[in-house]
Amino acid sequence: MSNNLVTVAYIAASALFILSLSGLSNQATAKRGNLLGIFGMAIAFLATALISQGYPIQLSSIGLGVLVGTLAASRVAMTAMPEMVALLNSFVGLAAVLVGFAEYLQPSSAMVGMEEVIHRIEIYAGVFIGMVTFTGSVIAVAKLQSIVPSRAVLLPARHFFTISMLVAMVAFAFPFVSATGNEGLIPLGILTAISGIFGVVIVMAIGGADMAVVISLLNSYSGLASAAAGFMLNNDLLIITGALVGSSGAILSYIMCKGMNRSFLNVLLGGFGEGASTTSKKAGTAEEATATNASEVVDVLESANTVVIVPGYGMAVAQAQHAVAEITRILRSQGKQVRFGIHPVAGRMPGHMNVLLAEANVPYDIVLEMDEINDDFSHTDVVLVIGANDTVNPIAQEDPTCAIAGMPVMEVWKAGTVIVVKRSLSAGYAGVDNPLFYRDNTLMFFGDAKANINGVLTQLAAKTEALVAA
Ligand code: NDP
Repeated sequence: MSNNLVTVAYIAASALFILSLSGLSNQATAKRGNLLGIFGMAIAFLATALISQGYPIQLSSIGLGVLVGTLAASRVAMTAMPEMVALLNSFVGLAAVLVGFAEYLQPSSAMVGMEEVIHRIEIYAGVFIGMVTFTGSVIAVAKLQSIVPSRAVLLPARHFFTISMLVAMVAFAFPFVSATGNEGLIPLGILTAISGIFGVVIVMAIGGADMAVVISLLNSYSGLASAAAGFMLNNDLLIITGALVGSSGAILSYIMCKGMNRSFLNVLLGGFGEGASTTSKKAGTAEEATATNASEVVDVLESANTVVIVPGYGMAVAQAQHAVAEITRILRSQGKQVRFGIHPVAGRMPGHMNVLLAEANVPYDIVLEMDEINDDFSHTDVVLVIGANDTVNPIAQEDPTCAIAGMPVMEVWKAGTVIVVKRSLSAGYAGVDNPLFYRDNTLMFFGDAKANINGVLTQLAAKTEALVAA
């Protein structure tokens, strides 16, 4: 394949990636955006495979990757998507580390003088970012899977330890850059080990609710790792895609930080949400909560004119979105105003709730963000909270010492009646008890979200049919 053709292919792929990102920024165009991204990636794969010398090996490794990726993506449960995304981020990080070692041991082009120094710095930076992304993402997967505690785990003298690691990493850069032969392998190996520990320490130090920001930040780091690999391999397309992922991930992290009322700098340095769980105290007793059932919920919904549905992680676990969409359709057909309120960190990955609602064909125009709907709760008759907890917890505004203090939440308690669908009175991901469940205007509809919502749907549909027949 000629160089000109490769350049054209790379420009086409880059343009498709940019169009893909712009498509993904809106639910209505997200599917098209996804397809454009896939198309761009196919062009990039082909062009890269065809220019490489040993392209049978390239094509077979790409083929294997496509096979494993397709199988994994088609089998993964929607509820496990956040873990899968974090795991894929870790692969990008690991790939950058391996590219770094390969480039050091066998540079793809001969370099001398300043060019070689710059190349060594690229390798050093690439291995650092790659390893932090790798171990940080592995810990994120473990936290999401509850293999390690979701609360903040802090080392004694953490700041001293973190600064020492950063100083050591900078110090080992000098012997690496000036090393001759394979001598640089030792400082590079030490950097790899320290960066790995660094990734573990910063993600372990992040508490429950703040994990949302970390997931998007690791996504951004994975982009930086690919861009670093692009510099090492002198591959323009990799630099462009890495920069796109890195910058869009950073923008997303910034949006998440705003949603969580956290400082972006704190996130970059790690170790926030430190109060997680430690201040969690019981907000009430089981007797103080008012339990309800499907027929009462149907009555409350039927007497309402305005309804807001606030979904959370529990809706994703229960896969209740289709039943929720059907209830929405029936209530709207009765002339009621039904809208959805989505907290920026609801669920376990950015946009989690939007994806589920889009899958269930809920019209986009009734799905509103927190900022768009929060002022409306005081004029709303009924709020149906489905498997959300931290994102509707009033304690965030009431207790400045709790783990989610200052985090903006959906102010659902201001509505006439709040119906909360969940299995128990237990705390959410951040481990903070929720006083909402014990408020006078809250009805607790205990049970699995899908079973409960299906129960409501059956009764609501039967009543509506009877009305139509009458
Ligand atoms: P939470 O995780 O706070 O709470 C979810 C609730 O769902 C639980 O309290 C649980 O209660 C309930 N639940 C679980 N399974 C079911 C089921 N089958 N049926 C009914 N209810 C169920 O959810 P939110 O969405 O409100 O908040 C998300 C949290 O996750 C935030 O703290 C956020 O920061 C964090 N996070 C978000 C990420 C993101 O990118 N969006 C990434 C990582 C973390 P019970 O057991 O009683 O049923």
